Amino acid sequence: MKNAIIVSSDATWRTVMEGTLLARGWQVASVETLSPGDQPAPESVHAVVVDSASIEASAVAAWLGAMGADLKVPLIMAPGLKQVEALAEAIDVPTTPIKASGDVILRFWGVRGSIPTPGPNTVFYGGNTSCVELDADGQIIILDAGSGIRGLGNSLMARAAASKKKLDIHLLITHTHWDHIQGLPFFVPAYIPTNHLRVVGYKAVCHHLAEVLAKQMDSAYFPVAMEDMPSHPDVEEVDDHFNCGPVQVVAFFTNHPGRCAGFRLETSAGSIVYMSDNELNHHGQATHLPRETSEHLYQRLVDTIKGTRILIHDAQYTLAEYDSKIGWGHSAIEDVIEMAAAAEVEHLYLFHHDPTRSDADINRIVQQCRATAREKGWTMLIDAAREGTEIAL
Ligand SMILES: [Zn+2]
Ligand SMILES: [Zn+2]
Repeated sequence: MKNAIIVSSDATWRTVMEGTLLARGWQVASVETLSPGDQPAPESVHAVVVDSASIEASAVAAWLGAMGADLKVPLIMAPGLKQVEALAEAIDVPTTPIKASGDVILRFWGVRGSIPTPGPNTVFYGGNTSCVELDADGQIIILDAGSGIRGLGNSLMARAAASKKKLDIHLLITHTHWDHIQGLPFFVPAYIPTNHLRVVGYKAVCHHLAEVLAKQMDSAYFPVAMEDMPSHPDVEEVDDHFNCGPVQVVAFFTNHPGRCAGFRLETSAGSIVYMSDNELNHHGQATHLPRETSEHLYQRLVDTIKGTRILIHDAQYTLAEYDSKIGWGHSAIEDVIEMAAAAEVEHLYLFHHDPTRSDADINRIVQQCRATAREKGWTMLIDAAREGTEIAL
């Protein structure tokens, strides 16, 4: 574990630097000023990253001396992001799975829950709602069509133009709450007649999927009807086992109002589980659960996700917040990391961030989760899903 201290009076600057280092497995202490009272005291410091717009180098050196830190540590004054990224990568911290085959790539296009949240407090992790791309074994698979699918559509169009190939896309929908379908009318590949778009919902969850998706494109809400999309998407309701090209998929229930599916996808580089909306209630705060008792739900999900390489899971609330949100269909992060550890997940991505959550909040949550993992001796990697992140498996 490598420790960095970040110093700046600019909260946004600190948040971006902190998130950049956290995404590469560093532990970060972030402070506003060099005043003695604010000094963090990590056991060892491996880098100090300072915003020199407001702080002199000599003041930093004196401050480090006063706190007894090793003065040989790299001191980076006013770095750009690229310098910080180079520093973070120069030191061997495993933050992504090591056996990369290059045949399977995961990309986050929307990581927010409930409603898009653009603005200065969400620029680092992103404000678009749920959308994840999985390029696996030659097949493009999309998980949910939140507002993030608009950017993905534009990227796919550029890739198709470069390769001069038509697009063959499988879009898996967990459930039809707005934050999981609202981007579909803005998905440009669906407007190209030679592309093929297969939209898939788990039959036990998505009743009348074609009709429900068409409704959000009714003329009262949108100028183009779904039936007039030139690719004429095929909408299918499937059983709990199905295929997307060579990728085998298992669909299962999560605990969410109105029902919701999770998906386990088996690729040549291992399995990926996507559970965007799920209420675990493992600590039993709820005296009643809408569909399953806590213990039955917990054990069923542990069995379903057992040993997966990547778990992308609802992390909307903290345990403290959860008390007033019981039955809303989302998990407390403390419950999520416990379940992921019990299921021997290799790498957990916290997902479906609450709309009220700022970048600084998410940085803090990642640090807390990693501290818990260290205390408990878990080897699982923990990150917060961030728009634009690409993971090669
Ligand atoms: Zn949602
Ligand atoms: Zn939902």
